[in-house]
Amino acid sequence: MQPSDLNNLKVAIVGAGYGGAAAAKALSLLGADVDVYEQANQMREVGAGIGLRPSTMNRFRQWGILDEIAKVSSPSDYFEILTATGDPIMKETWPGIHDFAEETKTHLIHRGDFIEALLGVLPEGMVHLGHKLETIQDRGDRSVLTFAGGETVEADLVVGADGIKSVVRRQLFSDKGPVFSGEHAYRTVIPADDAHGMVVDDNLRMYIGRGTKIYLLPLRHRNQVSFDITALCPDSTWAPQVTKDDLLATVEGFDERLVNITRDLDMNTVSIRAVYDIDPVDTWHSDSVVLVGDAAHSMLHHQGQGANSAIEDAGALADALRQADSLKEALALYQTTRKPVTDELQRISRQGWTEEEIDDVFPGQKPATAAPQE
Ligand SMILES: Cc1cc2nc3c(=O)[nH]c(=O)nc-3n(C[C@H](O)[C@H](O)[C@H](O)COP(=O)(O)OP(=O)(O)OC[C@H]3O[C@@H](n4cnc5c(N)ncnc54)[C@H](O)[C@@H]3O)c2cc1C
Repeated sequence: MQPSDLNNLKVAIVGAGYGGAAAAKALSLLGADVDVYEQANQMREVGAGIGLRPSTMNRFRQWGILDEIAKVSSPSDYFEILTATGDPIMKETWPGIHDFAEETKTHLIHRGDFIEALLGVLPEGMVHLGHKLETIQDRGDRSVLTFAGGETVEADLVVGADGIKSVVRRQLFSDKGPVFSGEHAYRTVIPADDAHGMVVDDNLRMYIGRGTKIYLLPLRHRNQVSFDITALCPDSTWAPQVTKDDLLATVEGFDERLVNITRDLDMNTVSIRAVYDIDPVDTWHSDSVVLVGDAAHSMLHHQGQGANSAIEDAGALADALRQADSLKEALALYQTTRKPVTDELQRISRQGWTEEEIDDVFPGQKPATAAPQE
């Protein structure tokens, strides 16, 4: 699209998570007139770490915000998978480190620091907190958003970045709800000094036992480590009640030091969630609305690609707007570029467990059961 068309493009982004904040940065760099509407009154993130892949870091370089992210993260060379008792299974350099003109490592970051850094690079006043989208009306070349309280906003382009339970997706593109994965995630961040000597460098380690995975993701710049247990469990309650004893039962048979870390945890700091994803959505856009991030393709975390994909979406959407002749063509190009990639990631992310492990917890039935609608 021509710079003059982009300058006149009024964009409303729903959701100020990673996908919404990244889209706001990428589209405002094109010159578009961007506003972001977020339901929360204050942004909060789960106490846990994630790995920002080289291609994600390269997008931050393109957007001129690499330093802001690098400042609050630690570079990492590889990830390692081990048995529950610490025998190595595989060790792999993070893919993509040498794909760019400059060496670009994966960066390990606290989720809270990440959203703060992303929102911190947006112009003052761009993000409107306390705006919960209730309805979206697609009027062809424009769309109208109505928020709780009655305020309405009209835009040439609405970007639905409103996460796994996306109102934009459900009202316009698919009425299917999230799908329960049959697993729970217990996540927290602890001082590295409390990790019983398990933090030895800046690399991610995953320990696999029967029906349980433990991730140790060092956050050296904070002298902390993100400690995440993912365990198969039939309870699909979105925020289940889980005790320390339940956690200890999931790590039985693991390296004694991992058991000790679990025993020492302050349960008040542990985020406890049943894990959900969505089935692939056939269409992500109309002529004036488009989905990004979890709203489009929420995936399980076994490949560590959900947040990374949301950033890639934002970059690809901006590329498509620059390359195509019209908004309509740009949205189609964006979907053609991104959907095959995320369809595949959604598929392989569902392959987190062996048949035997699933049979142990779900004898004679499949774990992916439709979640109750809220
Ligand atoms: C256990 C677990 C571990 C994970 N680990 C990793 C990892 O290691 N690496 C990785 O890349 N990804 C990981 N992910 C996935 C990652 O967290 C998500 O993919 C990512 O948060 C998606 O970002 P998003 O901006 O699309 O959605 P969200 O982060 O969900 O943000 C959506 C935003 O929209 C707002 N919103 C929702 N509804 C409305 C509304 N009606 N009106 C206004 N605002 C609204 C929400 O308040 C929220 O701020 C993990 C996920 C889980 C569950």
